[in-house]
Amino acid sequence: MADICNCNEGQEEHEHCLDCDGILKCNESENYCRWCEERITKEAKEADYIDVTPSWADVAPALLMVLEQPNGSDKSGARDELIRMARIADCWVKHCKEASK
Ligand SMILES: [Zn+2]
Ligand SMILES: [Zn+2]
Repeated sequence: MADICNCNEGQEEHEHCLDCDGILKCNESENYCRWCEERITKEAKEADYIDVTPSWADVAPALLMVLEQPNGSDKSGARDELIRMARIADCWVKHCKEASK
């Protein structure tokens, strides 16, 4: 939590945004101003997005594991994912061929 401050930037006791040092209004959260809060949320989302998109080399063993299990619960999902990966790989091969012309 930001420290209560009574520097002459604000008329009453106030808190400063931990990030940009702007004075927090009472309708803003206690640590960050609205702008910093938005930015932080956005950055967290982007970090999440990266986290849930592992590389194919990481995904393939997990998909294969599902397919190899006799009673794998999400076999059709794993199969679809492999086919999708193969399609993207085809596109990439095509792209490389065209780029090397
Ligand atoms: Zn202050
Ligand atoms: Zn701020």
